[in-house]
Amino acid sequence: MTGRFAPSPTSDLHLGNLRTALLAWLMARHAGVDHLVRIEDLDATRVAAAPEVAARQLADLAALGLDHDGAVVWQSERVALYAEAAASLPTYECYCTRREIAEAASAPHDDGYRPYPGTCRELSEAERARRRAERPPALRVASDHRAVTVHDRWAGVVTGVVDDVVIRRNDGAWAYNLAVVVDDLAQGVTQVVRGDDLLSSSPRQAWLARALGGVEPTYAHVGLVVNAEGQRLAKRDGAVTLADLAAAGWDAGAVLALLGASLGLCDAAERVSARDLLDRFDPDTVDHGSWTWRG
Ligand code: GLU
Repeated sequence: MTGRFAPSPTSDLHLGNLRTALLAWLMARHAGVDHLVRIEDLDATRVAAAPEVAARQLADLAALGLDHDGAVVWQSERVALYAEAAASLPTYECYCTRREIAEAASAPHDDGYRPYPGTCRELSEAERARRRAERPPALRVASDHRAVTVHDRWAGVVTGVVDDVVIRRNDGAWAYNLAVVVDDLAQGVTQVVRGDDLLSSSPRQAWLARALGGVEPTYAHVGLVVNAEGQRLAKRDGAVTLADLAAAGWDAGAVLALLGASLGLCDAAERVSARDLLDRFDPDTVDHGSWTWRG
């Protein structure tokens, strides 16, 4: 078994990301397996400042004592792997705009995801040539539109109908869903612990893993950290990053106690290390649900 934490270097890690990072580390260390770190920096426009943000993310993990095995892997250095995987899948070009998909698709799912109705799947070559001249295409994998079920360690049974997932975006970037699956397979990751905003993506990713000749990892999705209004934590919620908290007088032991308390492992007033939390950790009893940060 192997676990991992895979942040996107779009902004500094906040308490929600740190709580997920801690839990992923606890799960791997408790199982006695390798824990990898992968920087998911494929979205060039969103990660323009990637090296500095990623460096701060890695420094924050180290400051909390969340060590990892092997070298940090950067997705931007692995595009040849994604191209090779894409070439092994049945794919087609898609020229649809978001608006066209919204107009043609059935109602969005609860998480806002709109299954692709397959508009571009059956176009003639002449039609493709005409539309390609208008708009750079995205690349989709032709799926069989079956319902796929995954068993999440904490969320239980999650079923989703797998549509024709985008694997390369129309700006040329390899899509998150492809890269994450290719890398988890290539790196031998068998245990994925991450925020439950990605729970509904799991059936699509499990299907892709199988389509690539692999087996999906086990999943354990952790609840998000929300603010007092119940919204997903964000920068505007005040002191939410390790740097903000340090400026307000919190040392690593205090932040770990706060996160540990949110997981039911300690009292928030204690001073603990990641190793102390590991000694008290049990995946069957940990409080993995959503947690409210009141600042
Ligand atoms: N890079 C993704 C994020 O930061 C997480 C991917 C994953 O854990 O599967 O939201």
